[in-house]
Formats: sequence, C-alpha cells, structure tokens
Amino acid sequence: MKIDKGRVVCMHYTLRDESGTTIESSGEREPLTYLHGYGHLIPGLERSLHGSQAGLRTTVTVLPEDAYGEKDPQAVIRAAREDFPEGLTLEPGVEVQADTPDGPLTFMVVAVEGDEAVLDANHPLAGKTLTFDVEVIDVRDATPDEIAHGHVHGAGGAHGHH
Ligand code: ZN
Repeated sequence: MKIDKGRVVCMHYTLRDESGTTIESSGEREPLTYLHGYGHLIPGLERSLHGSQAGLRTTVTVLPEDAYGEKDPQAVIRAAREDFPEGLTLEPGVEVQADTPDGPLTFMVVAVEGDEAVLDANHPLAGKTLTFDVEVIDVRDATPDEIAHGHVHGAGGAHGHH
C-alpha cells in the first residue's frame, strides 16, 4: 500500500543535523506512527515520503524552509534578571514561559550577560538543514475516526484525550 493522504504510516527514523550529529532517533523506542497528509511531519519529509511503500529505506535531506523555518532574529530578546521568578536558576539551556501580546511563548535561555539574559523563542531546529534516515515499516488505511480526528488512534498512536 502506498503512502497517501489518509493513510497511517509506521516508521523508524534517525534525525541528524548538518554535522552528522544525531539529534533524535526512534531506534531506541517505538517507531513513529502518524496520519499522512495532516501536517504531523515537517513538510519536506512528508512530501518526500508521499507515494512510498513499506520496506522503503531512504535518506531525506530537508532545507530549513521545508522544516522548522529560518531563525527569526525578532524572536531573540533580552530580559533583565529581575523580571524572572525568584529562585529560578538563570543559565543557558533553561526554558522559561513568558506572556507576549501573541499569548504565552516558551523561550530558551541562550546566554546570561551580567544582569541580562538573552532569550530565544525560535524552534531549536529553526535554521537547520535536517537529514532523516527513514525506514517505512507499515502503511495502512486510517479508520474513519482517525480521519475525523486528524490523528492516529490505537497501538502506536498516542491518545487518551477523548
Ligand atoms: Zn482522537
């Protein structure tokens, strides 16, 4: 069965960055199961899997514009230490929530300089060219329920919200 919109795909993948460093891999856990054509994967990966079948092993390289987008310089801001909750250890790698005019946003502390912290709301993979090693394990038709919900139910598909 070919991968098409409305089919459920089960696959293993390993995600590497430009330097070849592994960022994420399904190898040590359950394979990824997703409903194809509903934006659950980054666009470049979903597009290149379209029409493939179980058994496919492939390597897909996706540019930032087809992945998590370019880094937005406006999403990098500075904030004074006194603006953070007391007791918060302000150091690179710490995630903080902040209210913005567009609603709550998660920022990553990328640097602490004197009394100021530099915060970045970009996706950690924004601006990166990503390479996926993919092995398609199974392709099946989605159930009407899955189509109605826009996501996978049952084994391998996280659920429980309804
Ligand atoms: Zn559901």
